[in-house]
Amino acid sequence: MSLDENEPLKQVSTPWLKPVFEQLQENYQSGRFAHGILLTGSAGVGKFKVAQDLAQYLLCSNKQMPQGACGLCHSCKLFAANNHLDFHLLQNEQNKSIGIEQVRSLIDTLNERPHLGDNKVVIIKNAHTLTVPAANALLKTLEEPQGNSYLILLTRTHHQLMPTLLSRVQHTHLHTPGDTELLAWLSELGFNIQDIGLLRLFQNSPLSLLNHLQSVQVSTSEDERRNCVEGLFSLLNQPESLFTFSQFLAESVEKRLQLLFHLLHDLHKLKLSESVMNRDAVYSFALPQLQIWQPQITLKSLRYLSSELLQTRKLLVDHSGLKKELLINALLIKIKNEFK
Ligand SMILES: [Zn+2]
Repeated sequence: MSLDENEPLKQVSTPWLKPVFEQLQENYQSGRFAHGILLTGSAGVGKFKVAQDLAQYLLCSNKQMPQGACGLCHSCKLFAANNHLDFHLLQNEQNKSIGIEQVRSLIDTLNERPHLGDNKVVIIKNAHTLTVPAANALLKTLEEPQGNSYLILLTRTHHQLMPTLLSRVQHTHLHTPGDTELLAWLSELGFNIQDIGLLRLFQNSPLSLLNHLQSVQVSTSEDERRNCVEGLFSLLNQPESLFTFSQFLAESVEKRLQLLFHLLHDLHKLKLSESVMNRDAVYSFALPQLQIWQPQITLKSLRYLSSELLQTRKLLVDHSGLKKELLINALLIKIKNEFK
């Protein structure tokens, strides 16, 4: 029951989804809520977010109006911990469909009594990937729902769904926010966008845009790592470049010396693992270069340099009045001398 690939977005406010969620909640309260719910909308509009909120709401034992789930009851806590036995997520594996076997075992679970409250909830991601037999099996469940089971189907457009299935579900389309609303939301998150073309590029899908903007930030720091690799390379091959590298590090001592520390650390790990780079290594993109450096330095030297580096960094962070470049130059010379 692994949840969202958009996990970090969980805490982000999603104001354009609020009216939709409140409407669904109202439908439930007034008994106009079907056992099959279909949510459509473009990628990154927040279908899964609404589905999760709805699932938590349906399972919550202390439902609130208009906020939704209470967030405090036993059920809410289990849900937040991805550990609720009455909640199921069904999705296709990459480039595969959702087959009859998956649906059958789901139906078996739905036939059992709920573990905790009254309701059971299933979210089906990429519902258009259901095979025809799988969709037909699901149809039966929707025609004769087992107790209080709710199925929430997600897909981009309703045209992608089998007509028979479509006729059994209550359909809600999630609209992307307009430019003004979207720009205000992004600006609240610290992204001031001047380029409306960017909104078009992502068809105003807020979460896709946010993902993009955040990954651009990440790649900026990747550039700084590249600078560290290039800086070390020049330091070892062109002694006169020491000052350029030192200046670069001095501009943002705390962060960039940390990045340089990671570089030494990854080299250290690479030596210990006989040149196999761990996937979560900070410098995995520079593996070929690190493999060249690896035999040129000993483990002992790497440990010595790491400790020298951290000392220099601490000194510079704690005492802002020091001559940064002087201390960094001294450090870089030590680094250069340890490489064979
Ligand atoms: Zn609750």
